[in-house]
Amino acid sequence: MARTTLVLGAGMVGTSVAYHLARRGRAVTLVDRQPPGRETSFGNAGIIQREAVQPHPFPRDVGTLARVLPNRRIDIRYRPRGMLAAAGPLFQYWRHSAPLRYADIVPEYASLIMRSTDEHQVMVDAADAEALIRREGWLEGFRSQRVFDEQQAVARDNETRFGVTFETLDRSALQAMEPYLGDAVIGAIHWTNAWTVVDPGGLVQAYAQAFEAEGGQCERADVEHLEPTTTGWRLTTSSGTLEAEELVLAAGPWSMRWLRELGYHLPMFPKRGYHMHYAPAGDARLNHWFMDFETGYLLAPMRAGVRLTTGAELTTLEGRAQHGQLDAAEKAARKLFPLGERRDPEPWSGNRPCMPDMKPVIGPAPRHSGLWFAFGHGHQGFTLGPVTGRLLGEMMTGEPTCIDPTPFRAERFSR
Ligand SMILES: Cc1cc2nc3c(=O)[nH]c(=O)nc-3n(C[C@H](O)[C@H](O)[C@H](O)COP(=O)(O)OP(=O)(O)OC[C@H]3O[C@@H](n4cnc5c(N)ncnc54)[C@H](O)[C@@H]3O)c2cc1C
Repeated sequence: MARTTLVLGAGMVGTSVAYHLARRGRAVTLVDRQPPGRETSFGNAGIIQREAVQPHPFPRDVGTLARVLPNRRIDIRYRPRGMLAAAGPLFQYWRHSAPLRYADIVPEYASLIMRSTDEHQVMVDAADAEALIRREGWLEGFRSQRVFDEQQAVARDNETRFGVTFETLDRSALQAMEPYLGDAVIGAIHWTNAWTVVDPGGLVQAYAQAFEAEGGQCERADVEHLEPTTTGWRLTTSSGTLEAEELVLAAGPWSMRWLRELGYHLPMFPKRGYHMHYAPAGDARLNHWFMDFETGYLLAPMRAGVRLTTGAELTTLEGRAQHGQLDAAEKAARKLFPLGERRDPEPWSGNRPCMPDMKPVIGPAPRHSGLWFAFGHGHQGFTLGPVTGRLLGEMMTGEPTCIDPTPFRAERFSR
């Protein structure tokens, strides 16, 4: 008889884990209160970020901190309650962002990112989802020569060390690719081995169908309680109980609640982001995903319209939506690209599940047998779902692993 597994959370991460376990012969039930891919994995910017070998550090220079303090920036905002609630994890985040510590983290993080497109390809093929993928890379635009030069130097280093590929575009090359972008942007880095997705939630749904084709089962249920039993794990849900020998916790930012209940003090904190879709004005066309780097928002030509996504808001998971950051990003974006009407009745918001050392948690729970963790993927969970799925699938079935899992173990926080 196949070993039974429950996976809690059908975002990009949980769905990918479920797929890899089903492929390896586990009898898997993927549990979510929503259909697959309707939360954080729905509303993101849809970039499979092969270039993102350097995770987002906490700003440490006094100039940047002074600019963030008045709380009016587009790229980062904070709410005092959120800062207070996450004071411990944020302090750790600041410490891990110190240059020496950060230099150790980058190659560990890169070991996952470097496999991201290959592992997505496996699932794209299984899901027959090629129509959702674009392979033209994406653009990071710059307004000042100094920052443009700095970022090119970083890109060259990442090319040498981690196989990131890019081209540098001056103003006229950028204009040839994006004729409707205003000339406040003087040039761009074109990340050429990253992919983009025209419907991120749709890709997760397609992956969930590939999971079902491997014999997996999707269960729509709101989990209210989880507990170990003598033979494995039990979930009490709004529509009954579910039991299995193993449980994978892959509930994105909601993982925090279950961790607390199980007595794990893992320092996860949310970084909120917002999005809104727009019609392009007149015959304007955006051909590529475009980030206004120094301002801190992104425009993505998706199926639903041009999706504007914001940077980070440090708040609590439950904190009420505040739209000032999105409104400010929209104002800046309209000066650069002819956006038309808003298409959604309300802005979408979601929370990036972040760990202070910028790395996800992937592996066995330290104190409970049959419990496995796959959460905390921060800014790049959409990119890292499939490689996480493969790595955890290999760990749970005792196969040799495709990369060293040590940097991602939960025990690193209990030292
Ligand atoms: C604005 C923005 C832009 C982003 N852009 C990118 C990008 O371009 N590229 C990239 O790689 N990443 C991006 N990210 C980050 C990425 O979206 C996340 O890291 C990723 O979606 C996390 O996936 P997940 O599967 O861990 O969580 P989720 O997608 O949130 O899935 C968790 C699931 O758990 C379920 N769940 C929770 N509690 C319960 C319960 N009690 N019972 C049943 N089900 C439950 C939820 O319904 C949900 O479906 C972005 C994030 C934001 C906010």
